Amino acid sequence: MHPARRPGRPLPDGFVAALQGAFGERVSMAEAVRAHHGRDESPFDPQLPDAVVFAHSTEEVQTVVRLCGQYDVPVIPYGNGSSLEGHLLAVQGGVSIDLSEMNRVHSINAEDLTVTVEPGISRKQLNEALRDTGLFFPIDPGADASIGGMCATRASGTNAVRYGTMRENVLGLTAVLADGRVIKTGSRARKSSAGYDLTRLFVGSEGTLGVITQITLRLYPQPEAVSAAVCTFASMGDAVRAVIETIQMGVPVARVEFVDSLAIRSINRHSNLTLREAPTLFFEFHGTESGVREQTETVQEIAAQNGGEGFEWATRPEDRGRLWNARHNAYFAMLQLKPGCRAVTTDVCVPISRLAECVTETEADLIASPLPCPIVGHVGDGNFHVAILIDPDKPEELEEAERLNRRIVERALRMDGTCTGEHGVGLHKMDFLLDEHGADTVDTMRAIKHALDPRNLMNPGKIFSWSA
Ligand SMILES: Cc1cc2nc3c(=O)[nH]c(=O)nc-3n(C[C@H](O)[C@H](O)[C@H](O)COP(=O)(O)OP(=O)(O)OC[C@H]3O[C@@H](n4cnc5c(N)ncnc54)[C@H](O)[C@@H]3O)c2cc1C
Repeated sequence: MHPARRPGRPLPDGFVAALQGAFGERVSMAEAVRAHHGRDESPFDPQLPDAVVFAHSTEEVQTVVRLCGQYDVPVIPYGNGSSLEGHLLAVQGGVSIDLSEMNRVHSINAEDLTVTVEPGISRKQLNEALRDTGLFFPIDPGADASIGGMCATRASGTNAVRYGTMRENVLGLTAVLADGRVIKTGSRARKSSAGYDLTRLFVGSEGTLGVITQITLRLYPQPEAVSAAVCTFASMGDAVRAVIETIQMGVPVARVEFVDSLAIRSINRHSNLTLREAPTLFFEFHGTESGVREQTETVQEIAAQNGGEGFEWATRPEDRGRLWNARHNAYFAMLQLKPGCRAVTTDVCVPISRLAECVTETEADLIASPLPCPIVGHVGDGNFHVAILIDPDKPEELEEAERLNRRIVERALRMDGTCTGEHGVGLHKMDFLLDEHGADTVDTMRAIKHALDPRNLMNPGKIFSWSA
């Protein structure tokens, strides 16, 4: 770890004066503002940055980063604070750069199906701005995350099975490096072989390589027809097998989400629904009228062969909206199963052929645990989440949650999967990186970090340790 600064050490006077001179009231050292920026949705206790700056342009980000470099102060980019793995905790103090006020759409190129935006725009704000164009941006993490944060965590969501993740949908970006230089990666062209793919390097870099200040994204035409359905199964294994067959047959489902009976109970209570409390799949189909009809018939057949029953359809936009809002709010609904709890969230992803085995073995672990552990999953991608609900005042519950998490990750790695399908590493998954990639691969990542941020100032202490 870089020895220059430790949390609790006051910021140098000259630094604070320079920051205030440049940003005036847009610098805050108020405890409440720092507390808001030193936490995320993970179960970790907050660790506060020393100051928060609200930036309005690439040049302003450059000013903050240069000053931080001059005074050896860490920099933590902040999007919308919805990450789940301790990404935003200021483990070495420093300055949080809040990008939420950089939320403009720079340009929409409808003919090319691209849009260029500032990083603080949220996914819902972006789709609102696109409403009259007939286009949309499909990546939809449950929270209304910022596009910059989604880029930095390589996020996905319920639509990834059809439209891909941030990895497939970012065409290029602008980033401020640790030494204050501004680089542009990629272009608006659909493909390129021009050198190393720095866009992909920054997508998933979690603020550790630089601050992303502009992003060009792919867009998609709004589908002509959309239809959604729910269907229940006798067991989780049956539901997952239905998904595996659907994917293996090449049915282009837009969304297919698994929700277990405990999670359904929480959703019913939270969203005032009356879904049957059983392992459930939520589907959505996009396409032409006939294409959607064909997809739904095939999926209904596959579901029936796996014991699926009680197909309920939602074709009116308001009914579909209610269903998917309930699914998107599942995390907050699950938290209400145990008042005052926090969730340790797992995020493994395995090859689709191993998914049924992975969830069935996981279910056996969870049944044997005293903690409530509802499960939801983007099962079309082989990715599922267990929300292990713990009382934050009981260390033994945190220990049990971490034991379950470790078993789930080890199982996924044995099956050639990953410890994190979409949430990223942050602090919480750091211990698994070596097991997943091996020492040489992690060393290669470290070498990139050392080359781009030789003084370890960009979101230090995340993803992997500074020294091997
Ligand atoms: C209810 C709920 C449901 C969720 N569902 C999903 C889901 O389905 N799929 C999914 O992938 N995630 C999901 N998440 C996690 C979270 O929404 C994502 O990780 C999201 O991408 C974080 O975006 P943010 O704007 O909140 O980023 P933040 O939490 O503010 O930051 C996340 C990380 O990105 C870095 N960062 C932020 N902005 C920039 C920037 N401009 N430049 C460089 N680095 C930056 C930060 O330093 C930090 O390391 C969910 C979270 C919640 C609370």
